[in-house]
Amino acid sequence: MLNPDVKLMAMVKAFSYGSGSFEIANLLQFHKVDYLAVAYADEGVELRKAGISLPIMVMNAEEITFDVMMQYNLEPELFSFGILDAFENYIKRSGINNYPVHIKLDTGMRRLGFEEADIKELCERLRSTSLFKVQSVFSHLAASDSAAHDAFTENQAKTFVKACKEIHKATGYKFLRHIANTSAIHRHKDLQFDMVRLGIGLYGVDSNEVVQQQLKNVTTLRSTVSQIKKVKAGESVGYNRKGIAVKDSEIATVRIGYADGYPRLMSNGIGKMWINGKRVPVIGNVCMDMTMLDITGVEVNEGDEVIVFGQELPVAELAGWGQTIPYEILTGISQRVKRVYYEE
Ligand SMILES: *Cc1c(COP(=O)(O)O)cnc(C)c1O
Repeated sequence: MLNPDVKLMAMVKAFSYGSGSFEIANLLQFHKVDYLAVAYADEGVELRKAGISLPIMVMNAEEITFDVMMQYNLEPELFSFGILDAFENYIKRSGINNYPVHIKLDTGMRRLGFEEADIKELCERLRSTSLFKVQSVFSHLAASDSAAHDAFTENQAKTFVKACKEIHKATGYKFLRHIANTSAIHRHKDLQFDMVRLGIGLYGVDSNEVVQQQLKNVTTLRSTVSQIKKVKAGESVGYNRKGIAVKDSEIATVRIGYADGYPRLMSNGIGKMWINGKRVPVIGNVCMDMTMLDITGVEVNEGDEVIVFGQELPVAELAGWGQTIPYEILTGISQRVKRVYYEE
């Protein structure tokens, strides 16, 4: 989906959206992506310790992490004069020149970044320093997936282009410009600039149904049945007796709970799991380590596999039941859940 020569920055923050850290980064490195990005310095340090040598941008840099960032050759995002001052002082003291940094502009997200009114002063600061080298200038779109906000997106892009031009005049050298996340890659091809920041799409998820159809399922969350019980009509299941069997029923207890990141909102029939070709509802409250399913009428044995999400049951559907988005489900799967990788 990328225009020719557009570089790729892969977002591996938050444990690669829950799918693993160095395992994913390693594969991306093998396939020669241009850049990796993490949210916090610690995440970058982990990747370096695991032998990842790709350039890594750290989006939420803070002063107390400058030491490790230098030590591990991590590239900070400078998003305010506060962080710029602190970083400048830090590298002055360490006697380094041309340290790679990334300049973040706030063009409408209202989260991190220099604002339009800051650009003039920012340019002056950049013109007069050789302490760091601007590797890239970037911004983040607030609603790239939404047609209703396309005018807003275009406006963000316009502000971005204008600021980039001014910054280029100040630095006198080229840097990468990037603003597109997953949705923008396919919805706003003209906004791919020099590089894109691919996140959720890399993990097989897109908010657009047509694009979703073109993506392969990447992650499957599986568990197994630990016990099956017969309960009589009127009996209750689980904590606070929230699940009531309306007729004689069969209940399967599954090895996953809210401590694994299976939302408690899935309780009492809201959530369904996929088992032996059928969708079956949760009965009662989701527990910390276990969840009970009403498997009445479905052929199930103890030890059988249960799919919580995957090809058979899209994570987006689970997210809908949980009143959230796939990002939150994926990143919320706790470290207790073993990640297993299949190589072809
Ligand atoms: C997480 C993130 C992305 C990736 O967004 P997706 O919607 O997952 O593609 C891109 N840019 C920034 C700044 C981010 O924080």
